[in-house]
Amino acid sequence: MKTREEVPLDDRWNVEALYPNQNAWEQAFKKFVPNPQKSPHWPALQQYQGTLEKDPKKVKEALDLMMGIDRELSKLYTYAHLRHDEDIANPQFKKNYEQILTLAHAFAQETAWFQPELMALPDTVLNQFLASPILSDYHFYIEKMIRMKKYTLSPDNEKLLALAGQALQTSYKTFSAINDADFKFGSVENSQGEAKPLSHASYGIYIREQDRLLRERVFKQYHQKYETYENTLCELLTGQVQNHLFQARARQFSSCLESALFPKNIDTSVYHALIEAVHERLDVLHRYMQLRKRILQLDELHLYDIYVPLTSAVDIRMPYAEAEKIVIESVAPLGKEYQEFLRKGFQKQRWVDRYENQNKRSGAYSSGCFDSLPYILMNYKDLLRDVFTLAHEAGHSMHSLYSRKTQPYQYSDYPIFLAEVASTFNEDLLTRLLIERCKDPHEKIFLLNQKIEDIRGTLFRQTMFAEFELLIHQHVEQGTPLTPQLLKQEYRQLNQTYFGPATVIDPEIEIEWARIPHFYYNFYVFQYATGISAALALAEKVVDGQEKDRTAYLSFLQGGSSKYPIDMLKMAGVDMTSPAPVKAAIETFDRLLSELEQLLNQTATV
Ligand SMILES: [Zn+2]
Repeated sequence: MKTREEVPLDDRWNVEALYPNQNAWEQAFKKFVPNPQKSPHWPALQQYQGTLEKDPKKVKEALDLMMGIDRELSKLYTYAHLRHDEDIANPQFKKNYEQILTLAHAFAQETAWFQPELMALPDTVLNQFLASPILSDYHFYIEKMIRMKKYTLSPDNEKLLALAGQALQTSYKTFSAINDADFKFGSVENSQGEAKPLSHASYGIYIREQDRLLRERVFKQYHQKYETYENTLCELLTGQVQNHLFQARARQFSSCLESALFPKNIDTSVYHALIEAVHERLDVLHRYMQLRKRILQLDELHLYDIYVPLTSAVDIRMPYAEAEKIVIESVAPLGKEYQEFLRKGFQKQRWVDRYENQNKRSGAYSSGCFDSLPYILMNYKDLLRDVFTLAHEAGHSMHSLYSRKTQPYQYSDYPIFLAEVASTFNEDLLTRLLIERCKDPHEKIFLLNQKIEDIRGTLFRQTMFAEFELLIHQHVEQGTPLTPQLLKQEYRQLNQTYFGPATVIDPEIEIEWARIPHFYYNFYVFQYATGISAALALAEKVVDGQEKDRTAYLSFLQGGSSKYPIDMLKMAGVDMTSPAPVKAAIETFDRLLSELEQLLNQTATV
């Protein structure tokens, strides 16, 4: 494998667009903070402490100053973090990266007074601020802050809550330690008698293998490990739910769910509507399971049979240059301007760090800041999966590009609830193009199956998770203790409901809850389901739609965080407060499934 120095310029991202070299970065750092040891690092900021009540001009000055520092800090951070990921063993990059992290931490501390001081002002003063033309650039920013006021405690109590913060992370940290470090899963024999080492990463691979005996063995062995620790894992999950309940009750929210969704301004009805809409159409998921059983020619479809591809003979490969080309082509429905920005980004501005090299960070992401290109890290290996990853990350990068071009600094980032819409949208456009072009029926089956699996994993599975999460919080809210027996029983029931009569619900699945880190994230996973629903509904609209649908979608990309996420999606053309987008996504699943059934029937008769 190439060392970083050996990677040709065209295959590297253009970090020089930020700073010409490491030396220039260090100069800029020095100029920004001449003495990193001395605090406060930004004495000018401290001058505003205690002055906010006086007049909106002070508030604006303080905010302008804060945003200016933040912006410069992000630029320095972006360069250091990109270089760090190019070669994580490079000591210079590592040092610079740690320097900037320390500085970012100092910035957070030195600005921590701002929000509490503002929130402590009387409502009359805050309303004057909101109405003041001086603060018009920050109107929504302040409005969001004021919204939280109702649930903000007295300064003393807030301090106490903050103090408890670290101790309250123990459940999650312990879960991570046991799950990521302490647990060893041994090895499993495949049907050839070869020992296969089992880990989190290899589990994901083996469970998709054609070797059924291997699948069955890894499924059982993997879950049995968790079963052995069911009491510990149950206590840890209980601890985390208790943590959420403590926060919710301390701030007088009516429920854990409300406490988690209120800061995003998402009504709890959105959450319930998602679950309800999915429940209404579980028949299509059941139909898919029946199809699996038939095509795989199984007497019994077990839970270790649900990830294996329905065709095994397909291996689509594509060199990187071709992947760029097809991703650019696939976004044609978004118009010439969008396409040209992306082409320029790929081919002229060098957004993408294309291939693996020694000590490069694994995986893929889109990253950058207000003053940078929307960089993409890839570890491209010619697989079809990599082409989709490129489309996905390009979706994020184009969202960033449009938001940063259009919004002022304070609204240029998009929130988590919206983050996966643009990326999933672009994956969908790519699927459409590939399926449209595909001549070989087996390839087409493969592509359809992949898309169906995407929707199953993101919409159905994550909604089942969301339902489980809601259940366990409700149990604790009502004073019912969580026991391994209760959790297993609830989890089994959910699996039965979701997978339907064609699937054998193996007893090992009852413990699956014990291995899902997302159950510690506080009502996070439902956003995967709403995200893909919004993306599919929007793609359907834009592809078949008129100019106004495309314009609406582009204005969503331009919106950043200038509105609440639900309002932003409304602007794009989907109303997440209604069940319609989720229903439409399931319709898409239904349509793809019918196509797949038809193709499979045809190829079987050929
Ligand atoms: Zn993503």
